[in-house]
Amino acid sequence: MKIETLAVRAGHRVDPATGAVTTPIHLSTTFERDPDGGYPRGYLYSRNASPTREALEQCLRDLEGGIAAAAFASGSAATLAVFQALAPGDHVVAPSDAYHGTLRLLREVLAPWGLETTFVDMTDPTRVAAAVGPRTRLVWVETPSNPLWKVVDIAGVAALAHEAGARCVCDNTAATPVLQRPFELGADLVMHSTTKYLGGHGDVMGGTVITRVDDDFFQRVRKIQGSGGAVPSPFDCWLVLRGIQTLPYRMRAHSENALAVATFLDRHSGVEAVHYPGLPRHPGHALAARQMARFGGMASFQVRGGRERAMAVAAQVRVFTRATSFGGTASLIEHRASIEGAGTRTPENLLRLSVGLEHVDDLVEDLAQALGGAP
Ligand SMILES: *Cc1c(COP(=O)(O)O)cnc(C)c1O
Repeated sequence: MKIETLAVRAGHRVDPATGAVTTPIHLSTTFERDPDGGYPRGYLYSRNASPTREALEQCLRDLEGGIAAAAFASGSAATLAVFQALAPGDHVVAPSDAYHGTLRLLREVLAPWGLETTFVDMTDPTRVAAAVGPRTRLVWVETPSNPLWKVVDIAGVAALAHEAGARCVCDNTAATPVLQRPFELGADLVMHSTTKYLGGHGDVMGGTVITRVDDDFFQRVRKIQGSGGAVPSPFDCWLVLRGIQTLPYRMRAHSENALAVATFLDRHSGVEAVHYPGLPRHPGHALAARQMARFGGMASFQVRGGRERAMAVAAQVRVFTRATSFGGTASLIEHRASIEGAGTRTPENLLRLSVGLEHVDDLVEDLAQALGGAP
């Protein structure tokens, strides 16, 4: 089935008890046992499994084309579960420009636990090849990457991981399964922050790990989900399920609007550089055109005149909202270096845009008036 159909149908079924067409929110934390102590419907206690979460997991599994999915309370909880499914002493290769929360987990939580990580520029496959070794168990890929939207060759990195006997995990948050299909490119697991485009409305946090094969590794992720308990509430699951129904249509509009905004910025004399994979001069453009169906809703630009000028532009917007995160209907603008804090490698004159679903003319006009001067 096509992704538009899966987005509306996968995981949903008419409730057999009531005939309700919309998936119910089951709040019960506990479930009745049969007189013999069994629980043939599969539910015992909602940390381990619950009907609304199961509906979401089936939907996520089918959208990504995997065999099973585990839903978490945030993208970061999903990320942590993947790394905790490894063992102390294992080695990981991760991108030096991974999501800053992922970098923080690896450096501040998992390194003390015994996981060793080598951080590399994954746009250069020779760096990945040089970094993998006999103890490498996992190669983490994130593409397009934040905030320069660099593009990594998933198939190339997955092949290098497999040669080394390691798994390849792809953080597919920025692209979504609508625009990028990591399993078809060789990834073994896919991770999402459903807080972003899958939820899609800036009103729910969540994460997921989806697997191509239901093996021991995924069973460990499942165990961490159920026994660690970083699980989404039934209402959170329902909100993500509801958001996903319009995901394919939203991703088209986000991508169209972002391309138009990036093209406008690229021609503006007050802009030093634009980072959007849909622009032909972006270093990852050719690869993105091969690997992605469209180029997504995220773009960044560097303002001529440095940090002060960038802050001034962000202060002038009227339609965009100054806020972090992305993937909602409302357009956001963010001075990324400030949010990442000390040690950031993000240029100080960079503003990141989450291009939303407002009319593109209003978005371009807003940036034009905020930038001022000749367009
Ligand atoms: C937001 C994000 C995360 C973390 O997800 P949370 O839901 O905020 O915990 C991980 N990876 C990427 C690419 C993200 O954008």
